Amino acid sequence: MQKLTEYKQNLHTHTRYCDGNNTAEEMILRAIELGFDTLGFSGHSYLGFEMSWTMSAEGTEKYKAEIRELKKKYASRINVLCGLEYDMYSQTPIEGYDYLIGSCHGFYMNGTRVECDSNIESVKQDIKEFFGGDGMKYAKEYYRNMAKLYDYGDFDVVGHFDLLTKYCEQEELFDVNSLEYKNAALEALHALSSGRGVFEINTGAISRGYRTTPYPAPFLLKEMKTLGCRVILTSDCHDKNFLDCEYKNSLEFIRACGFDSVCVWENGGFCEVGI
Ligand SMILES: [Zn+2]
Ligand SMILES: [Zn+2]
Repeated sequence: MQKLTEYKQNLHTHTRYCDGNNTAEEMILRAIELGFDTLGFSGHSYLGFEMSWTMSAEGTEKYKAEIRELKKKYASRINVLCGLEYDMYSQTPIEGYDYLIGSCHGFYMNGTRVECDSNIESVKQDIKEFFGGDGMKYAKEYYRNMAKLYDYGDFDVVGHFDLLTKYCEQEELFDVNSLEYKNAALEALHALSSGRGVFEINTGAISRGYRTTPYPAPFLLKEMKTLGCRVILTSDCHDKNFLDCEYKNSLEFIRACGFDSVCVWENGGFCEVGI
C-alpha cells in the first residue's frame, strides 16, 4: 500500500454560495499553493426554504455551473470536484454531483426543525422547549435521526457523525462520557457501518474555536476501526486559510485510534493509503 506523509485533499469545503467566506476560485488557488492534488466543493444543500447557511435553489444551479467551469480551467494544476453536503432533510435534487456527503444538521420535532449546528443558545433553547431540559433526550433523538441517514441517499461520505457535540467543550449539554450517551452513538454507528460511505474525520470546529479535537470522538473512531469502516480527513472548510487546518495532528489522532490507513479520492472514487 502506498504510504501517505501529508494529506493533500479536502472534499468538504464551502464557498459564498452557502456560508463560506471565499469564492470557489479563491479556494482553488489556495489549494494549489498548499500543493493539494484534489479539492472538492460541498455546498450546503437547499432545504426547501431559505436558510442563511444553505445554498438557494437558484444558487445551486449557478454553483454547479461555476465549479464545472473551474474544473476545466484548472485541470492541469488540480483535480476539482463538484460535490454536495446533503442535509438529510433537504428538498433538492441529489443527482449531478461527483460525490455526496450525507449530514444531519438538524431534525424535526412536531414539524419544527431543531438545529444542532447553529449556536449554543439556540441549542439550549431547543433542549428546553422540546426535551424538557433533558440534553440526553436531545442527544438520543439526534442519533435516532442520524441512524436513518442512508434512507435519504446513497452517500459517499458520512459527515461529522457526532456533530451534536460541537458545543460540549464549552458547556455540558449532556454527559458525553456517560454509557447512556455512548450507547446511543454506537447504536447509530452500527446502523450506518454497513453502508458504502466512508466516515469523515472533520477538523472544522477546531478552526472555528469550538473544539480542540476533530469529530468523531475517539471511542467512535476506535469502534469504526473495529467495524472495518474507512475514513477520510477534511476541515469542513469555510475559509481558505483553514483548508488544511490541523491535518498534521489529525493524522496522529487517527493513528492513535487504531487506523493505519485513510482514504483519498483517486480516479473517481476512494482508495486506501497507509499513514
Ligand atoms: Zn455540515
Ligand atoms: Zn460542511
